[in-house]
Amino acid sequence: MTAGQQDADVWTASVVTLFPEAFPGILGLSLTGRALAQGLWNLRTIPLREFGIGRHRNVDDTPAGGGAGMVIRADVMDAALHSAAHPGPVLYMSPRGRPLTQSRVRDLAEGPGVTLICGRFEGVDQRVLEAHRVQEISVGDYVLTGGEIAAQVLIDATVRLIPRVLGNQASLAEESFSIGNRGLLEAPQYTKPALWQGRQIPDVLLSGNHAAIHAWRNTEAERLTKQRRPDLWRAWTEASAMDPAKDRQLSGASDQSRDHREQHKEPKR
Ligand code: SAH
Repeated sequence: MTAGQQDADVWTASVVTLFPEAFPGILGLSLTGRALAQGLWNLRTIPLREFGIGRHRNVDDTPAGGGAGMVIRADVMDAALHSAAHPGPVLYMSPRGRPLTQSRVRDLAEGPGVTLICGRFEGVDQRVLEAHRVQEISVGDYVLTGGEIAAQVLIDATVRLIPRVLGNQASLAEESFSIGNRGLLEAPQYTKPALWQGRQIPDVLLSGNHAAIHAWRNTEAERLTKQRRPDLWRAWTEASAMDPAKDRQLSGASDQSRDHREQHKEPKR
């Protein structure tokens, strides 16, 4: 996409893929697309096929030990990774990987970028993953046909944390999994009309009492998280029990974001 000087400066995703035409895909639309056009982040695709072997540019072969399907060759992937060389971690989108989390996404957004390997078929020869110290990252406990959609999930989640990508940066402060929201799920959201098919917006949200609204949202976040994600709730209660300073710091963070919202009175996206 953009070339030269800019590459070194902005957060860059380099994507090794058999399907470069799948990019930017959905990332080219809306806020991520506008940010891409403005040069707030950069996208490079490295077409794996170009590094294939022989006249047919073969990239895969049958699995050692037998079995169904094909495996991407170590030598072909190695050549693509050398060509992709870029600062930041090399990640292989893979159902065997550590699950992608918001805290991982935050770390990635603060770095120079990522190199992402999109697998196809049965996956990638293990030796090239070891040689390049590749970390495996999963987008969930299910199997996709290829890593392209998973890579777009990771890039979307990361790029929206880059300053100026979102129109209203304050919306990041208290969303699900954010530090301002104590890593919990976000409270329910409502908008106009105030009465819809006999259903009302909770009174407190129309009261104009910001302290009461803040308290209601906190309580709802806790209720939803306990009900739907006991794992997140346990992680939060254990972290705050171990480190009371963190508790104070986190409630300070959410107070600040509340002040920020009240000052600007921006509508939430
Ligand atoms: N044989 C592999 C699955 C291969 S699926 C296994 O059983 O673990 C083909 C490709 O899709 C993978 O190489 C990977 O890049 C991608 N993929 C599939 N599911 C994924 C997931 N949950 N998260 C991230 N990438 C995934």
